[in-house]
This record gives sequence, C-alpha cells and structure tokens, in this order.
Amino acid sequence: MIKIQKRQLFKIGIPSLLVLILLHAASFVFLFKNSFIFIFWTYTLVLSISFFIYQNNRKAIGLLEIKKQDLLEKINLFEETIKKEKAIIISLDKKNSRYALLKQTLDKFNHSLILEHAGRNIAEETFGLFDGYGSTLIYLLNQENNNLDILSTRKINPQLIIKEKHGDLFDEWALKHSRALLIEDTNKDFRFDPERIKKEISRHVGSIIISPLMTPNRFLGLLRIESQQPARFSSDDLRFLSTVANLASISLDNSLLYEHTEELAIRDGLTGLYLRRFLNERGKEEVKYAFNQNSDLSILMIDIDHFKNYNDKFGHRSGDIVLMHIADLLKGIFHGQDYVVSRFGGEEFVVLLPKTKKTKAVKLAENLRKGIQDGFIILRRSPVKITVSIGVATYPVDTDSWLDLIRQSDTAMYRAKQEGRNKVCSL
Ligand code: GH3
Ligand code: MG
Ligand code: MG
Repeated sequence: MIKIQKRQLFKIGIPSLLVLILLHAASFVFLFKNSFIFIFWTYTLVLSISFFIYQNNRKAIGLLEIKKQDLLEKINLFEETIKKEKAIIISLDKKNSRYALLKQTLDKFNHSLILEHAGRNIAEETFGLFDGYGSTLIYLLNQENNNLDILSTRKINPQLIIKEKHGDLFDEWALKHSRALLIEDTNKDFRFDPERIKKEISRHVGSIIISPLMTPNRFLGLLRIESQQPARFSSDDLRFLSTVANLASISLDNSLLYEHTEELAIRDGLTGLYLRRFLNERGKEEVKYAFNQNSDLSILMIDIDHFKNYNDKFGHRSGDIVLMHIADLLKGIFHGQDYVVSRFGGEEFVVLLPKTKKTKAVKLAENLRKGIQDGFIILRRSPVKITVSIGVATYPVDTDSWLDLIRQSDTAMYRAKQEGRNKVCSL
C-alpha cells in the first residue's frame, strides 16, 4: 500500500511541477512581450496538463477504491473466522465443563447397588448433563425374551406419558445394530419412515440420541435422550452420551450382579423358589400390611404325600425331579398378583396369598390338589402319580400373627394327612 502511495505521489508531483514551471515561464513572457497568442498557447497548455493530471488522479482513485474493496473483503473473512473460532471456543468450554463433571457423575451413578435406584440416578444425572431439556430414558434388555423393558425416565414435563414401555422403532434400530444413533430430525431421516413414526409413537419427538449400554461381555440396554424440537443434538452430543453410557453400564452391571447374588441367597438352588427365611420376612410384612389395610391374608401349606417312596423306589435324583415338577406347577399357577411361592422344607411348600379370603384360598388349594392328582410325571420311563395334602390358614380369622399363621396351616395340613392324604383342610 505504501508503494502505491509513493507511485501516486510521483505521478501527481511531476506534472504539477511542470505546470508550475510553465505558469512561471508564461507570466515571465507575458510581462515582457504581452503577446495574446503566447498567452492563449500557454493557457491551452495549462488546461491540457490539468486535464492530464485530472485523468491520472482518477486512475489513482480507482486503484485505491479496488484496494479498499479488497481490504474490506479481507476484514469480512477475518470477522467470519473469528466468529467460527469463538463458536469453537464456546463448544470446547462446554465440553470441558461436561467432562469435568464426569468424575462426580460416576460417583453419583454408583451411589446405590439397588437396580431401580441406580436407574433413577443415571436418568437424573444424564438429564442434568444435557442441560435438562427433553426426556431421558433408560431401557434394560430382558435376557430371557430379548425385549427392552423401561427401567427409568426423567422428563422435563412430568405430565408426559411414555406409552412405549418396550421401546420404539428407534430403540429397535439401536438394539439391532448395537450402535449409537443420532436423529437430527425425525421427519427427515431417510432410515425411518415418517408414516411409521407417526403411527407407532404416541408422543411427539423431534430429535433423538441413543447410546447402547454395554459391558465387554454383554448388551445391557439403551440410554436415550429425546427432544420435541428438531436439531437439538449434534455428533458431539452423541459422543458425550456414549461416554456417559459407558459409565452408566459399569454401574448397571454392578447392580445386576448384586441383584443376582441377592436372588441366589434368597432362592432355593434346586427349585428356584424363595427360601423359608425370605418367606418369613415377607410374611411378617404382609401381616402388617393386612392389618393396616384391614384386608385378609391366606397361606397354603403343601406337603407331597409319601414323598419318601419316590426316593426309595426311583432314587434320590428322581425325588429331586418330583420336587422340581411340583415347584414349576406352583410357579405357573401362582404367577403375579404379589403371590409368594416358597420351598418351606424338604418336600413342603408354602404359598403366601395377600388380599385373599379363606374361601378363595380353599378354592385355589382345591384346584391345585386336583391338578396335581390328575397329572403324572415320568420317572425312569414309567408314568408316576403324585398327590399332595394342603392346609389353609387365614389372617385375621384364624390368628393375628405370622408365626401362628404358619403353625395353623401346618396343623390343617396334618389333619389332611390324617384324613387320608390328597386333601385340602382348613381350620
Ligand atoms: P408324608 O405323606 O407323611 O408326608 O410322607 P413323606 O414320605 O412325604 O414324608 P417324610 O417326612 O417321611 O419324608 C420326607 C422325605 O423327603 C425325607 C427326605 O429324605 C426327603 N427329602 C428331603 N429333601 C429332599 C431333597 O431335596 N431331595 C430328595 N430327593 N429328597 C428329599
Ligand atoms: Mg413333610
Ligand atoms: Mg410328605
């Protein structure tokens, strides 16, 4: 730029000097000769030179204008770059503070070993890490039927109902591919049919990020964040969610392992039924509940008739098969409704029936007795009949304590034995 100014000065300066010299020469001649022709000639020359200077200046101004435009363009480009750099700095700051929170997050995830609590903590913390908008959902994979089951949610709008308890087409995709998924706009993603989305999802979803919850050995489930608005999530968000999901997986895996160990401690190894210790704890709680709710609570004491004979005739292993067979029958019949089926002793079982009156309990016992009597089991390739004797007792009509309830049902069961076995008796 400085170079150009010098050149301009040179171009403008030399003709100006010439003009001045000519003007001085003309005045000098004028003074002495006063000739009209000379004056005319001189002024014509002055005008020509002035015109030449004017043209030169115009050119110089034009060049300067182009330079000015160039510089303005450069300024614009710089401003644009600064804007971009600023955005990068802001996003780095955000990333920085998010990652700094991860250590605290891990501590919070591991606050409890109870699966439900761990799920709630993870949903709550993840929701906070993503600035608390939209909804956070956690699904666990049911290892038995390969379905997703919702474990926990955290929603900005508590009124929002999530009907898809086993996930939707987006979760299906993430499960099938075992991969993270970013949907910037649910209406514009070529992988998913908008019609199917409308038909299958009851709530409005604009954008989603999903990350699998995995350990090195197994797939645990999915961690998902969704927003009603499109374009709420970037690939940076998805990367961060995957990091959070890695931490969450450790915590969930620990909880699942803990639950499994707990289950092993309260369940019988042969039949998979609850053990007597667990039944007694639960029974006491249920009596308290029945007292507070003014409701009934019945129990069935079930004893296999002449069980010793199966052991003696077919061997101990066959006796075990009979126990497993009866246990499976009980699990099938008393499934759900807060019923608790336990192995009370060697060949004795107790079924706890909350909110059940004596008449209903006797009816259930009678159906069970008849079902067992009408069936058979193959032992050493021979069909073998089994029968049971059942005693029924009910709170509060028979007694007001748990231990006495067990005693009363035992008494009723022995009466059934005395009256010829394969029988239901109540007090
Ligand atoms: P009752 O009709 O009077 O009830 O006669 P029972 O033979 O069923 O009763 P008893 O109490 O005389 O015999 C129970 C037998 O159950 C004795 C025991 O060896 C056997 N037993 C207990 N636990 C197990 C087990 O886990 N497996 C096997 N195979 N047998 C068991
Ligand atoms: Mg017995
Ligand atoms: Mg018996």
